[in-house]
Amino acid sequence: MHLPTVVMVALVINLIVGAYLYLLYLRKPKDRCFKLWSYSCFCFVSGAGLVVLRAYLDSDFLTYFIADCLLLLAPVYVLAGLVQFSRFRYTRRRRQLAVGALVLAIITFLLSYSQPGVLSVAVALAIALTFCLCAYLLHKSIITEPMFTRTLQTVFLLHAAVMLIQAILVIDNWSHLNIHGLPETSVYSLLSHILLTTLTALLLPWLSFLKLERKLTLKSQRDGLTRLANREHFFNQLDRYWQLHPSVPVVFMMIDIDFFKTVNDTFGHALGDQAIASVARLLSKQLRSNDIIGRIGGEEYAALLIDIDKQTALKIGQRLCQQVAAKLKFIEEKKVELTISIGLVQIIPAQHGHKIAFKAADEALYASKQAGRNTVTLGKINTV
Ligand code: GH3
Ligand code: MG
Ligand code: MG
Repeated sequence: MHLPTVVMVALVINLIVGAYLYLLYLRKPKDRCFKLWSYSCFCFVSGAGLVVLRAYLDSDFLTYFIADCLLLLAPVYVLAGLVQFSRFRYTRRRRQLAVGALVLAIITFLLSYSQPGVLSVAVALAIALTFCLCAYLLHKSIITEPMFTRTLQTVFLLHAAVMLIQAILVIDNWSHLNIHGLPETSVYSLLSHILLTTLTALLLPWLSFLKLERKLTLKSQRDGLTRLANREHFFNQLDRYWQLHPSVPVVFMMIDIDFFKTVNDTFGHALGDQAIASVARLLSKQLRSNDIIGRIGGEEYAALLIDIDKQTALKIGQRLCQQVAAKLKFIEEKKVELTISIGLVQIIPAQHGHKIAFKAADEALYASKQAGRNTVTLGKINTV
């Protein structure tokens, strides 16, 4: 393979991808990752361009020190752009550590740029470490497409390995290094570095589209007022539960706000909306995080309490009624005196479908309403 041709092709591709990413950033300025990744491409192109000029330009500061700083900045920008796709959070200490490490690397480059061998080892190690961090960030990724995140992680780790091999080759051939501080045998690691950089630049935008897709999916599953699962998503989650845990007993709970028409008529719909959201918040707080909760109608909620017996569920229901009556007596300083009624039923998924549980819990809820409201009724599955 003709190395200068490969370098030229890689530079042109990175330039085009960089411009494309920057255009995406201009279109969606909130997605800062596009800007950071376009900077990454531009750093790589200008760094590699300066490296090519080593044979023609008589400025070691520019063609060695600046060039290698730019080549390190390329993966650093990739890393910075990846943070928003990860559950990793920047703390003050982590930020100081990152800036400290970057400054340390740049000082090392500055001290060693007149000795190409030392410089190329330092650059390779710094780039390898940065790619390992990129793979680590993706390990904590919020993107739930395992195929894609694993492919990108593999590319990063492969890249780190290539850079480590390059450092080892340099140390191993210390007395036969060329003007780049590299042995002739490292041409393949150099080539892999160029190809992997280009591959990364091409894969990154996809990550952003997956994030957008995730955001839209989450939005379509949530109810806008309460942020609880909407009716469709609630029952989809139940379908999944029925498939995955057929033998774990569950309690299906129906919850309905009492005399809600009167609340709306007396205090207005805006306050009614606030009451619906307040009850939802209280339910989310009081139930466990693995319980499934949804808003399945106007002022009606449903919950699936997992791995629980009837008596405990009944106590939880009573506590919910007491909490609503006590905590939502006033909303926006208006004496609303909100109460809820609950119907619940225990079921083993393998024995009955969730539609039967829903019907039985609804009947129990009706019984609570008949009994005077602000109460809980334990229902029974009708087997005939
Ligand atoms: P009960 O104790 O028997 O449940 O009486 P209720 O007045 O609550 O009866 P019902 O369930 O029939 O009334 C529900 C009311 O909730 C009717 C509807 O106008 C109101 N509603 C439904 N969705 C919303 C909403 O999103 N916001 C507001 N503010 N009101 C809603
Ligand atoms: Mg009601
Ligand atoms: Mg109702």
